[in-house]
Amino acid sequence: MDKNQTEKVHCLIIGSGPAGYTAAIYAARANLKPVLYQGIQPGGQLTITTEVENYPGYPEGIQGPDMMVHFEKQAARMGADIRFGLATKVDFSSQPFTVWIDEEKQIQADAVIIATGASAKWLGLESEQRLNGYGVSACAVCDGFFFRGREVAIVGAGDTAAEEALYLSKLCTTVHMIVRRDQMRASKVMQDRVLNTPNIKIYWNSETDEVIGDKNVEAVRIKNIPTGAMETIPVKGFFVAIGHQPNSEIFKEWLDMDEAGYIKTIPGTSRTNIEGVFASGDVQDKIYRQAVTAAGSGCMAALDAERWLGAMGLH
Ligand code: NDP
Repeated sequence: MDKNQTEKVHCLIIGSGPAGYTAAIYAARANLKPVLYQGIQPGGQLTITTEVENYPGYPEGIQGPDMMVHFEKQAARMGADIRFGLATKVDFSSQPFTVWIDEEKQIQADAVIIATGASAKWLGLESEQRLNGYGVSACAVCDGFFFRGREVAIVGAGDTAAEEALYLSKLCTTVHMIVRRDQMRASKVMQDRVLNTPNIKIYWNSETDEVIGDKNVEAVRIKNIPTGAMETIPVKGFFVAIGHQPNSEIFKEWLDMDEAGYIKTIPGTSRTNIEGVFASGDVQDKIYRQAVTAAGSGCMAALDAERWLGAMGLH
């Protein structure tokens, strides 16, 4: 199909994590003929993780990327039309809704299910951005391998940082963990594991002043916040694990959101402030953020969409 052409679809799903694919499975089985656009990272955040042990149905655990291949295959088998492409703009002012894909193609949709997830946050340092991909990374699982036998640093103190520090500790000689307060936010079990790993060295009350390096990361300069003392630690890799941001920018003009940009849904439903537009998964959930809760909310969105389309006489 010509990229500039307009296409009419019944149910459009934006995003391809557990929420998007589950919505696609349910929508396809309800004969909503869903079209799903995968976005920039097909499979979502689970494609940059390793072992998933807490998703029911996998007694031995499963690798995140493998699990997302299963989700996609199941959605395709049910008849979902899964496509590569990024939603770049929307117009929810009237029905059918308009969604632009890759800034060119226009989709007109009776119902829209948003499942765009969340993305890694960055510190915002110039040196961090300049060296991104040259030693700076937001994904230890993706890039840790490049630093095996080397020293690395990681910023953050939540479960993600703890998990990634532990992952890196198995590959790298020393993991320097930079924590901005005098305590970690991570769950007790993860903190204990980090504290009991001999090659993870924690720098409490410390912030990153600069990532040092010309073409590649060579060191990180950190500042002890109470004393102001600077310290330079030679490292080859610098990992940022300070949380995530919901991918909701293109909906800002239309949908109610909280101050962090998470889309607001009517409690107990996937309904947004615009009838016919539904939100599911991490883009509307800053509390649970699990694969299984995202999948559950994708199911809710498909059921809500089906009921709404039926009530509107569109299905
Ligand atoms: P969190 O928001 O939980 O933690 C972010 C961490 O980064 C905090 O320690 C925060 O510090 C720190 N931070 C934020 N901004 C900066 C900054 N500018 N400079 C330095 N440090 C900064 O995010 P996570 O991604 O770790 O976790 C998100 C959710 O996912 C949580 O609910 C978590 O429990 C869950 N999760 C669960 C896992 C599991 O069960 N296996 C694995 C991974 C995540 P501060 O504490 O000072 O605010």
